[in-house]
Amino acid sequence: MIISNFIDGKFTPPIEERMMDNSNPADGKHIAMIPRASALDVDAAVLAAQRALPQWSALSMLERADWLDKIADALEDIKEEIAQTESLDTGKPISLARSVDATRSISNFRFFAKFARSQEPLIFEMSDATNYVHTSPLGIVGLITPWNLPLYLLTWKVAPALLMGNCIIAKPSELTPLTADLLAQTMQRIQLPAGVFNLVHGLGPEVGQAILEHPEIAGISFTGGTATGRIVARTAAPLFKRLSLELGGKNATIILDDANLDTVVAGSVRAAFTNSGQVCLCGSRILIHQSIYDEFCKRFVEQVDAMKVGDPSDESTQMGSVISIDHLKKIESYIDLAIEEGGEILSGGTRAMTGQVGSNPAGAFIRPTVIGGLNHLSRTSTEEIFGPVVTLHPFATDDEAIEMANCTEYGLAGSIWTEDAERGKELAKRVDSGIVWVNTWLHRDLRTPFGGMKNSGVGREGGRWSLSFFSEMTNVCVKH
Ligand code: NDP
Repeated sequence: MIISNFIDGKFTPPIEERMMDNSNPADGKHIAMIPRASALDVDAAVLAAQRALPQWSALSMLERADWLDKIADALEDIKEEIAQTESLDTGKPISLARSVDATRSISNFRFFAKFARSQEPLIFEMSDATNYVHTSPLGIVGLITPWNLPLYLLTWKVAPALLMGNCIIAKPSELTPLTADLLAQTMQRIQLPAGVFNLVHGLGPEVGQAILEHPEIAGISFTGGTATGRIVARTAAPLFKRLSLELGGKNATIILDDANLDTVVAGSVRAAFTNSGQVCLCGSRILIHQSIYDEFCKRFVEQVDAMKVGDPSDESTQMGSVISIDHLKKIESYIDLAIEEGGEILSGGTRAMTGQVGSNPAGAFIRPTVIGGLNHLSRTSTEEIFGPVVTLHPFATDDEAIEMANCTEYGLAGSIWTEDAERGKELAKRVDSGIVWVNTWLHRDLRTPFGGMKNSGVGREGGRWSLSFFSEMTNVCVKH
């Protein structure tokens, strides 16, 4: 398979004709040749977007909401292909690619279409004047996304950006470009006006950087690692671009003394290992009240030991590969570090290549790994690993749990497990994170604000926060 950039409504090879390889992390096999585009391709995409912008932005929001529904309908037709492609490109289980990636990619468009129809005009009356808040698009926006939830995170940005009348230059991770290509094919099939959605494939420091630096791109919505986020901020801030940064996390799962262990064990396993721990929201540090620590550890390790890791195409697989052999090595280096730091491996810690698990040595498989005995301030317990590795820590009081939860540079998400919802709610306000769940995890209402504090990001997306990010506002004050 050879894929191309999508610029001005057409699939076009990169101007400098450089291509690169895309492979399946579960077996190391080649899948596709993809463009290694350059700043020249970004320039061409921006020109196309500039031509498309006047007509697209002149449509009403409700007309653009109809386009979002058309996109959702067309994606629905290829839902199984999206799931299969995402599983192939990322190594994630097909069941997960269906239930999370494909489903949410479609619902992102449906949600924003419906949300648009519920918006009321913003009008503020004074005794002697009326204020009308007029929104207009930012213009051309750059959307840069990572490899863990490729189409899910891309569409989370594409839908509100289109809705508010912007034209798009998107760059997916070069590790997972295939479902973005399916999205481009969909845009072409439904005849979205040329130039409204442009896709440029390539490397972050080349295409990504060119998007950041382009003077005609007014806003950047970036999801990725904190280190890359620093580069994005450093480049885009002096150009006064609107910036949304959704970055890394090292999220705490806090289990209080009154938690129901039957639900909490299943919930914390899911929070730790969904998508091989490669979700920015994963609960990778579990803080457990000391009175239930031993019992929790026993039951948690039993469930993790029983997880089926292996062939992503097998319907019963619970955990697939990680994204690449390079990433696997990074994860292994953290397991080595944990041992150096005095940790004890309670489950996993080794590559998974035999028996029921992924049998191909070229596959990037590792067992879900549970580590006890580490200080909560150790590097293993505070740095983002972004893999199937979780550390367990006992605490004595609620205050100590909060102190431990807040001890990292991150502040993205967390969860609290207790039979007393009110106690959980009150404690949640003390966790320095953008999202805290009580007795659940990754339970999303798309109207709510999503984003992180501290080094986990700047700004919020979701519902009205996305609409506001992707638009300019003019307050028109008319004196009576
Ligand atoms: P990276 O930061 O490496 O990459 C993210 C995107 O940025 C990719 O498309 C990448 O391109 C691109 N990029 C890299 N360098 C530059 C540059 N100089 N200029 C512009 N763009 C660049 O993250 P990963 O893809 O490794 O994703 C994992 C990270 O994403 C984790 O830290 C995770 O926590 C975070 N994440 C955060 C989420 C959130 O909502 N807060 C959600 C999901 C993930 P390329 O891949 O081609 O290098």
